[in-house]
Amino acid sequence: MPLLPDILIPKAFIAGEWRDAEAKFAVTDPASGETLAEVPDLTADDARDAVAAAEAAWPAWKKRTAKERAGLLRAWYDAIMAHQEELARLMTLEQGKPLAESRGEVAYGASFVEFYAEEAKRVAGETLPSHGVDKRILVFREPIGVVAAITPWNFPLAMITRKCAPALAAGCPVVIKPAEATPLTALAVARLAELVGFPAGVINVVTASRPAAIGEVLTTDPRVRKVSFTGSTPVGKMLLAQCAGTVKKASMELGGNAPFIVFDDADLDAAVEGAVASKYRNSGQTCVCTNRLLVQAGVYDVFVEKLAARVAELKVGSGLEEGVLQGPLINAAAVAKIESHIADALEKGGRLVCGGKPHALGGTFFEPTVIADVTEEMRVAREETFGPLAPIFRFETDEQAIAMANATEFGLAAYFYARDYRRIWNVMEGLEYGMVAVNEGILSTELAPFGGVKESGLGREGSHHGLDEFTELKYVCIGGL
Ligand code: NAD
Repeated sequence: MPLLPDILIPKAFIAGEWRDAEAKFAVTDPASGETLAEVPDLTADDARDAVAAAEAAWPAWKKRTAKERAGLLRAWYDAIMAHQEELARLMTLEQGKPLAESRGEVAYGASFVEFYAEEAKRVAGETLPSHGVDKRILVFREPIGVVAAITPWNFPLAMITRKCAPALAAGCPVVIKPAEATPLTALAVARLAELVGFPAGVINVVTASRPAAIGEVLTTDPRVRKVSFTGSTPVGKMLLAQCAGTVKKASMELGGNAPFIVFDDADLDAAVEGAVASKYRNSGQTCVCTNRLLVQAGVYDVFVEKLAARVAELKVGSGLEEGVLQGPLINAAAVAKIESHIADALEKGGRLVCGGKPHALGGTFFEPTVIADVTEEMRVAREETFGPLAPIFRFETDEQAIAMANATEFGLAAYFYARDYRRIWNVMEGLEYGMVAVNEGILSTELAPFGGVKESGLGREGSHHGLDEFTELKYVCIGGL
């Protein structure tokens, strides 16, 4: 069994205590299939205990000065960065991504903690002009209350800190329900929070293999005032419906179907690099991953050739191995999905340019794949593949590219490469997306508001906007002056 870091206690964390249970579930390494650890398989009652612990911790936590909360967040940031290597290795073991990407995610995840440590001191209210000479209008920004954070496996650390850091900064306690495939990284960062002195009950982690029972508590218990979810659109819709019963505020970071458009005036080499980063990072298992490449007719053949040459260089293997750029997929279902998208595209006339099948390494390793001559009748046009498949569509005019890009119920991230400045403005304004990258393949940063429109979600994470999700405005009218 691989060596796990000392900072990992493979138990749930509730009310400042590490909670075990008789029922456990195994966390496995997707690269080897080996069991890494077993963690408690908690029940709805445990989830209610976590909510109670958070609720009990709230009054004291919100009364701390902003500077005190900021100090704890800053100490947590320092601890995460001091353990970057151990956390990265743990993440690669349970999630599969190459070690360099895991290190990057630890730094990216930590950056939210650093940012909101600073931002905690700037949660300001306001006074507004009043409606009478004897009255004053005050607006307070208050912490919303207990926050439930439900997170996916593709970013085992960053999706947690992106929610928890602003919640904690605002004065809210949190109950985290990490994905069942990747609870270990979550438990290790919670341990670091405990070590730097976060009070008991302010951060709780509930591990479970059957998320529905825990999700039901977190979305229906009236003590939870905010649910922040990152995951698939179908689960997000269901949780949103469950939140309606107690009118909870909800943020939803859901699926995407990102277009990556290459115009005929683009720097093609830069576009190829951007496409590789945006498509194959995390084996294509990223919500902002390019799902569809749209390439203008005049540069289509050259682009396909250049991309295929670059993709052929991607080394596939265990994320712990030096030089590996693509790890395994998370599980067999992920392999089945990409296989079904490839089969459908090839049946309907797609041209296989490279890859196309499970990798010779076996398990859930898959060849980085490129398919050309893809059309809108194919499943890849509408569905998120969440794997290393680049389907390349062809278009003639800018209007056609914008229409194709927008022909989806999703609206998370969009990318395009062009040089003409009028085209850049027209396309940027025409894209119905929460985030647009121009001549860039990667856009996530703690400094910008991350989030989608349409069925990709509600709310934003990161930047000063991220704090709004965890505060409520209280208007106070003072009369009789
Ligand atoms: P998922 O929806 O299956 O799971 C996400 C989380 O929800 C996990 O913790 C899971 O245990 C939990 N969950 C699942 N069913 C539940 C239920 N019935 N009740 C309560 N909780 C439940 O998604 P996933 O497969 O882990 O992640 C992949 C998806 O996440 C993709 O669609 C991807 O695009 C999306 N994603 C979006 C963003 C974003 O910021 N928009 C970021 C990362 C991933």
